[in-house]
Amino acid sequence: MKTNNGVIAPSKQWINFFGNIQIKPRGICKPYVSSTSGSIYFRETVSQYQELIANAAREDRKIRAYGGSWSLSESAVCNDYMVNTIETNNINVGLSADDSVAKHPDQLVLTQCGARIRDLHDRLGNKGLALPTTGASEGQTIAGAVSTGTHGSAFNVGAMSDYVVAIHLLTASGSVWLERANDPISTQKLRDELGVSQFLQDDELFAAALVSFGSFGIIHAFVLRCVPQYKLRVFAADWKYEDLEANIMKPDFPNLKQKLKLASDLGELFHFEVIVNPYTQHAYLRYMDKVPHDTDPRSPGPDKWSMTGLLSALNVLSDGVHGLPQRELGRVIGKNIRDMLPLDQRSFVDLPQNIFGPTKKRIDMDRAVVDGYSTEIGLHPSDLGRFFHIAFDVAKKTSFNGAYALRYVKQTRATLGWTLFEPVTAVIETPMTATQGAKDALRELWRRLRESKIPHTFHWGQCLPVRPIAAEDARLGDAELAAARNQVLAQYQHTGRLARWKAARKKLLPDESARRMFSNKLTEALDLGVYE
Ligand SMILES: Cc1cc2nc3c(=O)[nH]c(=O)nc-3n(C[C@H](O)[C@H](O)[C@H](O)COP(=O)(O)OP(=O)(O)OC[C@H]3O[C@@H](n4cnc5c(N)ncnc54)[C@H](O)[C@@H]3O)c2cc1C
Repeated sequence: MKTNNGVIAPSKQWINFFGNIQIKPRGICKPYVSSTSGSIYFRETVSQYQELIANAAREDRKIRAYGGSWSLSESAVCNDYMVNTIETNNINVGLSADDSVAKHPDQLVLTQCGARIRDLHDRLGNKGLALPTTGASEGQTIAGAVSTGTHGSAFNVGAMSDYVVAIHLLTASGSVWLERANDPISTQKLRDELGVSQFLQDDELFAAALVSFGSFGIIHAFVLRCVPQYKLRVFAADWKYEDLEANIMKPDFPNLKQKLKLASDLGELFHFEVIVNPYTQHAYLRYMDKVPHDTDPRSPGPDKWSMTGLLSALNVLSDGVHGLPQRELGRVIGKNIRDMLPLDQRSFVDLPQNIFGPTKKRIDMDRAVVDGYSTEIGLHPSDLGRFFHIAFDVAKKTSFNGAYALRYVKQTRATLGWTLFEPVTAVIETPMTATQGAKDALRELWRRLRESKIPHTFHWGQCLPVRPIAAEDARLGDAELAAARNQVLAQYQHTGRLARWKAARKKLLPDESARRMFSNKLTEALDLGVYE
């Protein structure tokens, strides 16, 4: 089907980056990209998206935007119309005083939803700016990354949603511009150029829309508050987990240098992460300080330490790993982690994008070379001891065959942001190759965590215990599904965040049909879809 402004391709199989989600929606829509530029281009794009939304409304069907399709959860898919945003990727670096009332408009960046993190790095770098933090990779789109609470480990910065200062959102009833009341950003001129029909300065709505995984409408653009360009200096160290435990449970970042005997020339600690090999209980530290942008790059580091890097390393082994005695498994995993770290050098210096890229070879952004799984759990650092006790046992008793990666994220301002613990959330990721054993190990980890009563949350873009379109979930009993649902939502319920998010969504989308349009099986299974 062809609308005036966009194409709705006939139904075809859609598959995500890591290959764990496949769906055949009614249609995959892709707005035309016109050759015009400037404000006409922005307005044209907006009208294309509005036409797609109006078409879904006429047919009373669901519609959901997706970006890089890097999420491992079912957040980005629906059975009706899925919208491919990847070519909606214009980036306007540095606003003028005509466009913004903010103090430093030159550090504000207007970016369309589908801009990849890699492209943002490049465009910002050309103008001497940088993103305050990113995840450990660069293939996500800005809207996809923000919408699931993507983060890095710059523990004083927060998640990527925490540097968004304005949201341009398209719904069935209009073109909405959202800002915080106490941080005004846009001028009427900018809003007119973007065809905004509703201007809202509302802190509660803004915080709710930030991490909303497609449920508030289609995000056309964000304004980001960026920082002057910088480089990072990367160091690594090798510890026994038990010797590190007290310090990771009570991370005293200003004094970690002395407590953990970090490099003597380290400046102010900026980034801190730990990867734990459960089979040897070794803990590998990667930590960084910020250095001026004109610092000479020093020896390019080893291959990047990222989820894809680690997965590829583990996958090379995966066939051989099966059936290996655990001591041998631990040795092999340890070697692969060490190969990705500058353990044998003092340090190296590089731009963030060269450190947090997927691998030395730039990868295919659409499909991973290796199918994978990963879940990411948020908890209070003081619960890390109890967490690792469970995690080591799960690794021992299942075919987990992977490692646990720990990072820290400052408490987020987004209502459903999952890095909600104060003052920082400890986040643990489990990159694994896609085997039945890995899947069973994940289920076991979730079950043990649930029983432990350790307060925890889940990354909305990684594997979740609730997977309504996965065939095996259909075989789970009602009680098990209810327990999994409660596990995902418990922290938002206890803190009142869930009620606030639902109220904000109802305020923005007062009609039940509008709320239904922007829901999907996942949000319905979690009772975040249509409610009265
Ligand atoms: C190799 C790899 C490395 C990763 N590393 C990290 C990491 O270091 N840190 C971390 O926190 N996470 C990490 N992740 C998870 C990843 O950051 C998230 O899954 C992120 O959401 C993916 O972005 P995307 O552009 O692919 O979004 P998608 O997966 O396409 O979509 C994510 C969500 O955003 C919504 N969405 C997308 N575009 C729009 C729009 N225009 N309007 C409204 N809603 C929209 C979708 O509906 C969906 O709910 C990693 C994932 C992979 C595969």
